[in-house]
Amino acid sequence: MPIDATQPYDDDNLFAKILRDEIPSKRVYEDDYAIAFHDIAPQAPTHLLVIPRGRYVSWDDFSTRASEAEIAGFVRAVGTVARAAGMVEPGYRLLANTGGHGGQEVPHLHVHIFAGRPLGPMLA
Ligand code: C5P
Repeated sequence: MPIDATQPYDDDNLFAKILRDEIPSKRVYEDDYAIAFHDIAPQAPTHLLVIPRGRYVSWDDFSTRASEAEIAGFVRAVGTVARAAGMVEPGYRLLANTGGHGGQEVPHLHVHIFAGRPLGPMLA
């Protein structure tokens, strides 16, 4: 069920639980600002999710409330994850579904990283 991107942060959401290690995940990266793990239902040969450690519902929430350090740290983490996974060449795709029309299901900001095959047109 898509979420409302303006809803208050829910500390019981799935990714909050993954951050607290209450739900297992295949974690591939962590630093002070972000963690990254494999998506449980991959839609490409490699499908990773990068999430900020902070309590942000959506891209909108993050881009309006997060500090400059959190934003820089998160953006750098996304790039570091992709680079460390050897994706820079031949390339990858980033996606941040936001709110209902964006198809966001989990109310903690996440950036999808897709890679491992030519990904075709932008939208289905
Ligand atoms: O952008 P959206 O909110 O739709 O993406 C949520 C993603 O979280 C889905 O790709 C889903 O497979 C993934 N997921 C996960 N682990 C869970 C629950 C959902 O990786 N336990």
